[in-house]
Amino acid sequence: MPHVVCQPCFACKYTDCVVVCPVECFYEGQQILYIHPEECIDCEACAPECPVEAIFPEDNVPAEWEAFIELNAEMAPQCEVLAEKKEPLVDS
Ligand code: SF4
Ligand code: SF4
Repeated sequence: MPHVVCQPCFACKYTDCVVVCPVECFYEGQQILYIHPEECIDCEACAPECPVEAIFPEDNVPAEWEAFIELNAEMAPQCEVLAEKKEPLVDS
């Protein structure tokens, strides 16, 4: 049961979450991060690190954000892995 990045992550990019992930399964999208569902080992380390509570176990994703389960699965393989905390991107 992988963890899933949901709506509150939009525009965060403070990326406190990626630092604690033991398997480096966070990927950097244009505006939010994604968790690769086949790489996440469900260790639960990341969710408490997220200041806006954007990360949920797949089982516990709020109904209004269910689409993010598929979105993470679809987008993570297309994005670059992100394993280190980075500064927020400045809007251009
Ligand atoms: S800390 Fe939370 S909001 Fe910020 S990048 Fe990670 S998942 Fe997204
Ligand atoms: S639950 Fe663990 S393995 Fe999965 S994304 Fe979070 S920190 Fe990484």
